[in-house]
Amino acid sequence: MSNFIELKQVSKWFESTAGRFNALRDIDFVIEKGEYIAITGKSGSGKSTLLNMLTGIDHPSEGAVIINATEVQTLNESVLATWRGKNIGIVFQFFQLIPTLTILENILLAMDFVNVIPTKEREKRAEMLLNQVGIGQQKNKLPAALSGGEQQRAAIARALANDPPILVADEPTGNLDSKTTEIIFNLFSELVKSGKTVIVVTHEKTLNPDYDRIITLRDGVVVDDKKAINSKHL
Ligand code: ADP
Ligand code: MG
Repeated sequence: MSNFIELKQVSKWFESTAGRFNALRDIDFVIEKGEYIAITGKSGSGKSTLLNMLTGIDHPSEGAVIINATEVQTLNESVLATWRGKNIGIVFQFFQLIPTLTILENILLAMDFVNVIPTKEREKRAEMLLNQVGIGQQKNKLPAALSGGEQQRAAIARALANDPPILVADEPTGNLDSKTTEIIFNLFSELVKSGKTVIVVTHEKTLNPDYDRIITLRDGVVVDDKKAINSKHL
């Protein structure tokens, strides 16, 4: 058992004129390398806030997030951006592709930013990733020319650009039809089989039987944390 990702007593609150709002309270868990995790809970329960803690997009008010022996909140902004690019691929609910760049260029940009894939290998790798998610034919199109499902697959390819060990996705299928949802979840299952740690925020927990573990949030607190019977990580 390895503590690949560890949250230690993580709390997050937001201050406003109305006072303090606790979005996360005393979150404490360990994720092992290669686990396939679903984070679920009602809207407003703190799922996105929790992902922001994991990715370093935002910092805890109290507690610590440790990923692969790095305490995330100790990194300054510029170090953090590169660290994130190497370690965590992020898939956003609304894709967040750059609209003026082609699909291929979106992926190349992610590679240029982190600079871990050798320059002369980048284009070939980007094409390989686009083929892997099934949209290789669309590489020279702008995002707007693709369907929602294709854009989400492009966003997944971009998240994998620098071969990060961790993939996180915030309701990645929230806006997609059931067929595309199935394609994306099959892809995530393949990534888990290849050794990646995948963390998916989702409402549709019943759609996917492959999860190792389901963590349920309610009002910023973990109210359930269940390992699936078929988990390899029991
Ligand atoms: P979920 O992703 O589960 O829908 P969120 O993590 O987005 O929930 O939000 C949890 C709670 O924290 C919500 O009540 C939300 O309004 C609040 N919240 C999130 N981000 C902020 C912020 N930057 N400022 C103030 N409140 C916030
Ligand atoms: Mg959310």
